Amino acid sequence: YFITFEGGEGAGKTSVLQALENKLVVDGHDVITTREPGGIEIAEKIRDVILNPAHTLMDARTEALLYAAARRQHLVEKVLPALANGKIVLCDRFIDSSLAYQGHARGLGMDEVYQINEFAIEGCMPDLTLFFDINPEEGLKRIVANKDREQNRLDLEQLKFHEKVYEAYQKLTSKFPERIHRVDASQTIDLVEKETYNKIMSFLKD
Ligand code: C5P
Ligand code: MG
Repeated sequence: YFITFEGGEGAGKTSVLQALENKLVVDGHDVITTREPGGIEIAEKIRDVILNPAHTLMDARTEALLYAAARRQHLVEKVLPALANGKIVLCDRFIDSSLAYQGHARGLGMDEVYQINEFAIEGCMPDLTLFFDINPEEGLKRIVANKDREQNRLDLEQLKFHEKVYEAYQKLTSKFPERIHRVDASQTIDLVEKETYNKIMSFLKD
């Protein structure tokens, strides 16, 4: 199964994903975790190009295409082979991030960004997507509190932008209720972990 973790900054996706990998392994599942953009060498290189703060001339469409390119390579090189081997793949971000960030927040249009991503993924949508739902202001506060981590991003991406990202995730969650399930990410990390675990368990049972 292909399970993706989505949400804005400071939602706790990355830490919960690591904890969940351990829990699922203890339960006897064959699981790998990975992330986007990145997860394999070519895509990590694309990630560095996209996220380099010196690249102030980066055009929004160029950025969207680079995300889609990184996504394709990561999917073909890592995700699909793992799925073919019967593994559960937990992925930090996937197509919904592009729809929310590039499509809605950057204003390219969610349908337009969906189209280039459809070219990239050829229908390989996640089986389950967990949307880590936290009010963007709360999420950003968590990042500021965590000083070592990704400090300079706050200057680049202001609250308004994050509110748009959040709005897009909410839209996607109501548009695809079968695939996208909401996790209350405003809780303590332990509770977020528990809720995520329970949602994955009930998905695996069905
Ligand atoms: O998941 P993570 O927080 O590591 O994402 C890295 C950065 O890339 C974040 O600042 C996020 O806002 C940004 N991003 C983006 N568009 C995407 C995926 C991530 O702007 N499609
Ligand atoms: Mg993260």
